[in-house]
Amino acid sequence: MTRKPERTHWVSYLRVSTAEQAERELSLTAQRRAVGDFAGRHGAVIDREYVEPGASGTDRHRPVLTRLLGDVLQPTSTVGTIVVHHTSRFARDATYARVAKSKLRDVGVRVLSVSQDLPDDPMGTLMEGFFECIDQYESELNGIRTAAAMREAVRQGYYPGGRAPYGFSTVPVEVHPGVVRHRLVVNETEADVVREIFSLYVSEAGSKVVARVLAQRGRRMRNGELWSKDAVLSLIAHPAVAGTLYWGRSHGRGRRDDSECLSLAVEPIVDAKTFALAKELRQRREPSRSPGRAAAKPHVLSGLIHCGKCSSTYQLETSGKRVDGTLYRYCYYNCRRANRTGVEACPGFRIATELLDQAVLGALADMICSPPRVTRLATATGFAPDQVREAWRALVTAEPDIGRGYVLHLIERIDIRGDRIVVTPRAGERIERGEEIAIDLP
Ligand SMILES: [Zn+2]
Repeated sequence: MTRKPERTHWVSYLRVSTAEQAERELSLTAQRRAVGDFAGRHGAVIDREYVEPGASGTDRHRPVLTRLLGDVLQPTSTVGTIVVHHTSRFARDATYARVAKSKLRDVGVRVLSVSQDLPDDPMGTLMEGFFECIDQYESELNGIRTAAAMREAVRQGYYPGGRAPYGFSTVPVEVHPGVVRHRLVVNETEADVVREIFSLYVSEAGSKVVARVLAQRGRRMRNGELWSKDAVLSLIAHPAVAGTLYWGRSHGRGRRDDSECLSLAVEPIVDAKTFALAKELRQRREPSRSPGRAAAKPHVLSGLIHCGKCSSTYQLETSGKRVDGTLYRYCYYNCRRANRTGVEACPGFRIATELLDQAVLGALADMICSPPRVTRLATATGFAPDQVREAWRALVTAEPDIGRGYVLHLIERIDIRGDRIVVTPRAGERIERGEEIAIDLP
């Protein structure tokens, strides 16, 4: 019989959430010191430290906490004690705290809190549950208070957000001793770029060209990336640059109407006329982006294709050409980076959708139609093997919905490497060829 290892070791779990730390939370250094002293008073040392920076106590999927639980729940673990500075460090969700601690108790691990040194008896357990509920209540109350405080700050003309929108900076203002609010002021360096973008957009031909000109002039976004078509469009649509910031526009995943938002007057970077002109031009130039138009049906290979040069995903690119008064639409797949940011970011490789679809679907049909399957189907249907193969190919390649169904079921990803396509099947699918299938374009 094997003896279970003795759980004599102590570990600590330290956590700060960025929002709390800004207010009054104990820093990691202070938590570390307090936890170390506490262990010392109990004649123990902290053998290992688990540090979770910038995570909320209501988050059940904190990576470091998950790792800690995984480690100590191992039957071979020698950890018997987890020390936290305060029960709220472990969790701000009472149910989660109960479940996790009960699992730990089952394997003989206790969670001790420096700030609430509780007796190891039923009264201690009761008090611990009580503290967990308070931690959750505090966290919920904080959320409500924060939202109300933000609304009030906007009413008083302060910017309650973190990052200023492009073109602006935040400046701290001490409204009462110890209470700091922020005002939004024009950031002259960025404002020059904003004016440049508007002047390019109203005089040149659309967001993609603007993005490319910016790249050629060496302009970068705040994060150091090249300006993309979408970034240009989102900037010219942002009312703050014309003097009104709407607070609370994004709401969950959706977007509130401007009339439902609080507005904050800021110093305009562009005049109202230019802003309105850009808006009007946008509606004319980028019709696919104006609201009210139904989303295009996904194309056969949408979402699966990746660029072999920059590993960005591929997207559809359409162009219309008029020949003798008739509008012909051409459809291509191309690298998203090449398409949105320009060849400065990735040279891309443009490929007609028809050509790529047929090449991939044809290869797919051949893969599914392995000789044993053809034989089985031929026997079952009474058709000749060649007829089975033909019918199968026609079904997969000529019916987009069926083709897409098979593609989604069987293919993990498609990489475009020049004129060579590499198809990676989904793991476990019975495609009777190697790991990857290379297709050469005609
Ligand atoms: Zn690319």
